[in-house]
Amino acid sequence: MTDRLPGFDTLAIHAGAAPDAATGARATPIYQTTSFVFDDVDHAASLFGLQAFGNIYSRIGNPTNAVLEERVAALEGGTAALAVASGHAAQFLVMHALLQPGDEFIAANKLYGGSINQFNHSYKNFGWSVAWADTDDPASFEAAITPRTKAIFVESIANPGGVITDLAAIAAVAKRHNIPFIVDNTMATPYLIRPFEHGADIVVHSATKFLGGHGNSIGGLIVDGGTFAWAGDDRYPMLSKPRPEYGGMVLSETFGNFGFAIAVRVLGLRDLGPALSPFNAFLILNGIETLPLRMQRHSDNARVVAQHLERHPEVSWVSYPGLETDRYHALHKRYCPLGAGAVFTFGLKGGYEAGVKLVSNLKLFSHLANIGDTRSLVIHPASTTHRQLTDEQKVRAGAGPEVVRLSIGIEDPADLIADLDQALAG
Ligand SMILES: *Cc1c(COP(=O)(O)O)cnc(C)c1O
Repeated sequence: MTDRLPGFDTLAIHAGAAPDAATGARATPIYQTTSFVFDDVDHAASLFGLQAFGNIYSRIGNPTNAVLEERVAALEGGTAALAVASGHAAQFLVMHALLQPGDEFIAANKLYGGSINQFNHSYKNFGWSVAWADTDDPASFEAAITPRTKAIFVESIANPGGVITDLAAIAAVAKRHNIPFIVDNTMATPYLIRPFEHGADIVVHSATKFLGGHGNSIGGLIVDGGTFAWAGDDRYPMLSKPRPEYGGMVLSETFGNFGFAIAVRVLGLRDLGPALSPFNAFLILNGIETLPLRMQRHSDNARVVAQHLERHPEVSWVSYPGLETDRYHALHKRYCPLGAGAVFTFGLKGGYEAGVKLVSNLKLFSHLANIGDTRSLVIHPASTTHRQLTDEQKVRAGAGPEVVRLSIGIEDPADLIADLDQALAG
């Protein structure tokens, strides 16, 4: 062993993992068990009292999941992480730890559609309200702050693709007002952007997408940056007040710079219950081993396909930051010079009918509502995910009748281009 700090590609394969102590198994075993035997009564008591770390019950923690947590914390440069059942569960547990009834948070207006629904509708039942700010205008975040604002939430590369967020500028607003800054890093992954390097305090992931990367497992991650000073801050009682569940322990004092990761586990996951199956954790871990290779190929392929579409006579516009003419090109060079991600939209001159025809004619691309698979994916939002909206709402959501969204896979790019060409001609 040397003192070298391992590089990103090495961490993607090794962080958190070691040969199994009991069997020597080299791949991380799937600990498919609900519960774990205590050494003795004292050991059990110390586990339940948070005086010792260890396994109790797989809703609260599991050794396979723990490898995934350590690996993603290492890749993001955070202090600790928590694996949960989905990206939406990750967002929910973060807000549950930060917000009381009557509290508010500010979210960027360019977000995954499911997050917009979660924030606008489901959170009302908890008395939490969202104020929307303009992703492209950091001043709009500052303007939305009130004394009840408890968090700011953005995506690093934002849905529906082609948007790069100026993280440092929004982080500066959050710091000025001492508000935790949460970044959904699903579309970029830590290979392209590490939000903690740009001022994020908490990172969330839908591991369903590029981390898992093979379209086979729903999962989510919460990563604690260890940067926010919770101790003594009355606005965040889950972190700063004595917890009756744990004998009056103050989590931010006992656990210091990973207190937030502990809070979402022992108050959020324990009580609300969206645990990740160890089988899914295993599949996501396998996916992460090739994350650097896949993300580079996803981004390189996406740029080649975007360049081709930009020149295509049936295409009116392409929104991809990897294109030199794109409005987000400068932010791409600054935040993610290795690549601009896999997901982008383009417009068809033939409008709605041309969109429907394209998805019907494509053979290699799969027509479905997901991103971040090894396979290339396509969706025509106006006839699917956004069909309930009025025409005006569709346009405002970036889902006008002519818009097609692609999630470019890691196939041979010449085959992707040939498939798009035959579908556009057909
Ligand atoms: C898919 C997605 C989510 C939700 O994740 P699930 O794993 O589907 O719950 C959240 N944010 C972004 C950016 C996503 O793409």
